Amino acid sequence: MPIDQQLIDTLKENSVVVIGAPYDENSTYMLGPAEAPPKIREALHCGSANLCSEDGCDLGNEALFKDLGDMAFIPSQPPLVEIEGMVDQLLEKKARVLLLGGDHAVTPAVLRAYHRQYGQVNILQFDAHPDLYEVFEGNRNSHACPFARIMEEGLAKRLVQVGIRTMTPHQKEQAERFGVEVLPMKSWAPAMVPEFDGPLYISFDMDALDPAFAPGVSHHEPGGLSTRDVLSVIQDIGAPVIGADIVEFNPLRDTSGMTAMVAAKLLKELASSMVNGLSARGQ
Ligand code: MN
Ligand code: MN
Repeated sequence: MPIDQQLIDTLKENSVVVIGAPYDENSTYMLGPAEAPPKIREALHCGSANLCSEDGCDLGNEALFKDLGDMAFIPSQPPLVEIEGMVDQLLEKKARVLLLGGDHAVTPAVLRAYHRQYGQVNILQFDAHPDLYEVFEGNRNSHACPFARIMEEGLAKRLVQVGIRTMTPHQKEQAERFGVEVLPMKSWAPAMVPEFDGPLYISFDMDALDPAFAPGVSHHEPGGLSTRDVLSVIQDIGAPVIGADIVEFNPLRDTSGMTAMVAAKLLKELASSMVNGLSARGQ
């Protein structure tokens, strides 16, 4: 489902839009996340569940909710540049973007566009990994590095990481250098998630979840969050969620489509929170 430019041109102000960015060439261990967006949509619309979030927002009947489809990359332009340009265009239409990866390397591109519209934003990252490597296997755009780029470019007002259970000495140094607030899985409690002052961007790496809940990821890291842990955090966030991504779902590793369904559930809850944030503020 390629993106229809006409759909973008006719977007209502304050729309919450889904776009797929099927790009995983900065993955290190294995490919696969590029195949995620259609699988998440298939789960969302498979007929086994409805389109209501748990707080009763019916995305099937929500005029502000639009799925724009997946980006089709052109060979002459680096995909990360295209993603940034697409998000720029959507933010200029006053939309809030919910991007489906792809691997985690897409997030700096999204946040560069957000920075142009909003200045520095608060970021809540769900992930088993801090993704703070200066460089990984010679690639500064590796999916192991996105939050080093985001911090050194000054895109974040505050970065809070949840689900972390693979911290290395190098990344610990980086976290200290950048003032990243790491909430390690080892001592996790939902109440540790701080309140955010101002607009919030949520970056959701599917491997934050325990592989028992979400086996369809490239990097299985046992001992992670439950689906309910994650939903509670998203549902209780007080700050207006202005954008989000769901990345690193790898359909090649999924079992019975269960990770696709978890990603679809997160899509519903995140989109609902983005739509509600708008109506709560009367915009
Ligand atoms: Mn990640
Ligand atoms: Mn990860």
